[in-house]
Amino acid sequence: MKEKFDIAVIGSGAAGIAAAACAARTGAKTLLLDKNPGAGGTGGFSGLTTLCGLYDDAGNFLNTGFPEEFGEAVSESSPIKNGRLWVLPYRPEKFRAVAEKFFTDCQSLKTVWNASLENIVVENKKIISLNDFDVGAVIDCSGASEVAQKTGIATLATDEATQASAVVFQLRNVKREIRSTADAAQVLMPLARAGFPPLHFHTNLEPDSITAKFSGPPETVPKLIELLRTNVRGFENCSAVQKEFSVSRRSGKMTVGEYVLTGPDVLGAKKFPDAVARCAWPMEQWSADGKTKVRFLPPGEFYEIPARCLRAAEIKNLFMAGKTISADADAVASARVMGCCLATGEAAAKLAVKSLK
Ligand SMILES: Cc1cc2nc3c(=O)[nH]c(=O)nc-3n(C[C@H](O)[C@H](O)[C@H](O)COP(=O)(O)OP(=O)(O)OC[C@H]3O[C@@H](n4cnc5c(N)ncnc54)[C@H](O)[C@@H]3O)c2cc1C
Repeated sequence: MKEKFDIAVIGSGAAGIAAAACAARTGAKTLLLDKNPGAGGTGGFSGLTTLCGLYDDAGNFLNTGFPEEFGEAVSESSPIKNGRLWVLPYRPEKFRAVAEKFFTDCQSLKTVWNASLENIVVENKKIISLNDFDVGAVIDCSGASEVAQKTGIATLATDEATQASAVVFQLRNVKREIRSTADAAQVLMPLARAGFPPLHFHTNLEPDSITAKFSGPPETVPKLIELLRTNVRGFENCSAVQKEFSVSRRSGKMTVGEYVLTGPDVLGAKKFPDAVARCAWPMEQWSADGKTKVRFLPPGEFYEIPARCLRAAEIKNLFMAGKTISADADAVASARVMGCCLATGEAAAKLAVKSLK
């Protein structure tokens, strides 16, 4: 006989961690499936070291509940302010360990690693089984609407033109502070002369270390580091923490839900009667030449995400969280930050559990 689960969560990035933990904490028998060998997704495995989207302009948690709990658990320092925006620096290994700890505390959760989403059976517009498990409801946290793609229902997409992929890597032994755009410009000058797209620098909790986001090809990173070593004061002895450099994808697919969140909703700080999550992060577009376009909400404002963006339009028991929520390319350019993914993960779990009753 097939094993039966109340809730199946696909993907264990920020959204899936929240969805799986919050569903299992209600006592619902929960299955978490990921093709990776453990929990973390982009936040745990890509080299990122800043959790964005947790706070409002005043530095207070925008979403209490699981995002606050996860933020507190992962935190090893106070949040820091970049211009108007507060971010939480973190260590990727702690991000993964905190997720594992939440999971081991959930007795009704079963995790299945190294397992891709396979056969899905849909009957009467309901998913009844996947990967040979019977399921009551499904939460797609795959970052790419894998469930929608496998079942053939409608999706929207972001593309590389505005959500370019990037290599994220950490440099240690950096004896130079980069606090402002002017500081960064000085460091980047020799790279620009050699034809490299600009690097973006982010905070790293390790001493004398910095995290870099680079939109050029991964095989050129060693040459770029050599240029920094030979041309930039303070970088003479720097070296990369990673041995190999891989590309992380910003672009993805969103499942069409009962409402599609739009760019004007985000910039207009729209509120909804069925709101389940808040976000104040700006819309960030990244092009392949490393240039960014950032559009902010009005000062002090946030927008809301309605429950309808987390419920699939065409399948009754399919819910979405994180990068797969029902949003257009502009809206997801804001809502994809991890603080917001944690919030939609928790909200999707509540909606999915409620739908079982
Ligand atoms: C280069 C780059 C820089 C970024 N910088 C920041 C930043 O500084 N701060 C910030 O907050 N956000 C940042 N983001 C955005 C943020 O990291 C992601 O949008 C967010 O982590 C997405 O979370 P998620 O849970 O929706 O999906 P993901 O974290 O992508 O997790 C999806 C999970 O689903 C699994 N999966 C996918 N397909 C399948 C399948 N078929 N079967 C089984 N499992 C599957 C994957 O293995 C993965 O574990 C950045 C993103 C990129 C790419």
